[in-house]
Amino acid sequence: MKQWNFVMKKNRDVLYFTIPVFDETGLVKSCFTSRIGGVSQNPYNYLNLGTNTEDSKENIRKNYKIICNALEIDVNNIVISHQVHKDNILIVNESHKNSDIFESDIKEIDGLITDKPGIALVTLYADCVPIFILDKRKKIIALAHAGWKGTVKKIGKKVINRMVSIYKTDPKDCIVGIGPSIGECCYEVDDFVISQFHDSYDEIKSFILTKGNGKYMLNLWEANKKSLLEAGVSKSNITISNICTKCNNDIFYSYRGENGKTGRMAAIAQLY
Ligand SMILES: [Zn+2]
Repeated sequence: MKQWNFVMKKNRDVLYFTIPVFDETGLVKSCFTSRIGGVSQNPYNYLNLGTNTEDSKENIRKNYKIICNALEIDVNNIVISHQVHKDNILIVNESHKNSDIFESDIKEIDGLITDKPGIALVTLYADCVPIFILDKRKKIIALAHAGWKGTVKKIGKKVINRMVSIYKTDPKDCIVGIGPSIGECCYEVDDFVISQFHDSYDEIKSFILTKGNGKYMLNLWEANKKSLLEAGVSKSNITISNICTKCNNDIFYSYRGENGKTGRMAAIAQLY
């Protein structure tokens, strides 16, 4: 098994993962949550943050309280996006703060960017790839939600491009974390998916393993890395967590591992 490059942290009973190079900057509070430490019951056990799941709202609210306490984040400063596997990106400011975690106006958005300290960006996951971006020089954070569709659309690259056009970000100043999500070990796809990667990427051999009979193993981590490199990010500035959510279903929710009936983890990022 490959070495995990995100670090596991425990605060009381809550388990979450951080990116060492992000922590070292002292600019950002960021993490990827696990399923451990919350109050939800089977099949959402335990720390379900999925506001669109059929779990009880009361439990989801309690879970947000628990993770916010653990991270010392004010729940009123959260901005959650309801992702839809597209490539729409929003520049977030104070006006986007959610009055309630279940009342998000931010629909159909898969990328969030902000330069405003004190706003906690939140995107939700069960197997899809969370991409954390920090422009260390300009002090700008971003999250991108990349399932296979978002990866085909190169959402990570598009977020960087947007940062360049709006904030004059130099991609070389950016550090990137590719978080826990379904790994190549567990992510089998068919010709339909592969043909779309063919159209979008000039080379796909480096992230696809052919199994035969029209089946392939897809490495979303490497594909996203490729799109980020295209955007001008330095290879040495990209940290891949190497953590597969399906292999580690006891720690993480996995859509594939639990046939769709499961909770959601959150990627959270807030500038100090
Ligand atoms: Zn796996």
